[in-house]
Amino acid sequence: MADEGSHTDLPAVTETVSCTSGTEPALVSQWVKVRERLRVEVGDVEYRTWLQQIVLGPLEEDEITLFLPTRFLRDWVRGRYGDRLQELWRNENRAVHHVELQVKRVSDAVTAPVAVETAAAIEIEAPAVQASAVQDARHDLAAPLDPRFTFDSFVVGKPNEFAYACARRVAEKPSSPGFNPLFLYGGVGLGKTHLMHAIGSELTSGGRVSVAYMSAEKFMYRFIAAIRSQSTMEFKEQLRSVDVLMIDDLQFLIGKDNTQEEFFHTFNALVDAGRQIVVSADKSPSDLSGLEDRLRTRLGCGMVADIHATTFELRISILEAKALASGVAVPAKVLEFLAHKITSNVRELEGALNRLIAHANLFGRSVTLESTQDVLHDILKAHDRRVTIEEIQRKVSEHWNIRLTDMSSARRARAVARPRQVAMFLAKQLTSRSLPEIGRKFGNRDHTTVMHAVSRVQELMERDVAFAEDVELLRRMLES
Ligand code: ADP
Ligand code: MG
Repeated sequence: MADEGSHTDLPAVTETVSCTSGTEPALVSQWVKVRERLRVEVGDVEYRTWLQQIVLGPLEEDEITLFLPTRFLRDWVRGRYGDRLQELWRNENRAVHHVELQVKRVSDAVTAPVAVETAAAIEIEAPAVQASAVQDARHDLAAPLDPRFTFDSFVVGKPNEFAYACARRVAEKPSSPGFNPLFLYGGVGLGKTHLMHAIGSELTSGGRVSVAYMSAEKFMYRFIAAIRSQSTMEFKEQLRSVDVLMIDDLQFLIGKDNTQEEFFHTFNALVDAGRQIVVSADKSPSDLSGLEDRLRTRLGCGMVADIHATTFELRISILEAKALASGVAVPAKVLEFLAHKITSNVRELEGALNRLIAHANLFGRSVTLESTQDVLHDILKAHDRRVTIEEIQRKVSEHWNIRLTDMSSARRARAVARPRQVAMFLAKQLTSRSLPEIGRKFGNRDHTTVMHAVSRVQELMERDVAFAEDVELLRRMLES
């Protein structure tokens, strides 16, 4: 929910816009809004580097033309902002369906002053974006740290304990031998950025250490912007004056040779001066082919820590921590269900939980397995796969802690026979296999055995609520 009051302290401004002559005033003011919105989204520096030079062209039928002075700029803007420009235009003017970007030095471009209450005219969805853009402009060099990403809010488990310990160590004692640089790597959404921000917050909380955190992408923009404005010396000095430099998602520099070169020199200068470097990437230094050898070598010289994919246990712990912090009661069964279903990464897991929580808060209803399925329908669907009998057998054995081989063994002890019956029941419910086919997968049992299992489980479910819940949970977990 946007904080309505937050735009009122922004002054109304008079904008100047480049457009080809004869452009409709209405179109010009729509363009102002599109531009302004984009500026808020991408930040001042990117905006000035790439977008400010766009000249508004004509609207013909459903296509609006925008001009850029060089092919390079045109391709860049098209690649990075093309879709977004289109969306923003469409929001302003329903008639616009396409945005055409053309290379043209527009000689007859006129500069039209348009008085608009820019800030008031734009609904800003997330005040946070606006705030960060403002902050961004204030200290141009680094990106602000997200106050939510602290060590305290980071849940530690087997897959990330080493990376966590290294991050803590660097936060306690930057530039210790053996920990410089600290290189964190792992797949998306596993907590690299979170740990970097945590280091930054910890170090800056004392106020004596200056920390610059930025994505490798931002590093490149800043660098290019510095070249364009002929202020590379200033850029270098700024960078080299920090105590701790953190560059996130270094893999972005693959193929960007000049920026890599600049980073390499900055890196050396800082390390030689006893400053701390923290870098993250999606792969280990040795696997980052495409980065210069000498850079890879230096990156691997300090501490290299990987974050592994989450385990079920870690996912549960994270969900428990986040649910607790939210103050909304989320039943353990729901958390289990989510941890089973959403295994890709923490970001998606968190997103799913946040939606549940928001929903519960909004409608004042308690969270149940049913409401979860409902609210997260689309997310869960994206994570669905076809269920196989093998999977059913595996999940059921895990659930009751029996050996997978017992699914097809001849053992008849209740502790084994009951789960086996449940697995047969679920196989019948969730797959299109016939009774004889199912029987074969369970140690060549007869189809009448499967039939018996199905009716036995149904019977039990009616009599025993706890058992019914177990089966239901398994079914939901497996369901496609
Ligand atoms: P990455 O940079 O590796 O792609 P992020 O650090 O952006 O991932 O993490 C994605 C989201 O998941 C963030 O909201 C972060 O707070 C959360 N997250 C990741 N790992 C953990 C963890 N161990 N404990 C708590 N939250 C986590
Ligand atoms: Mg990240």
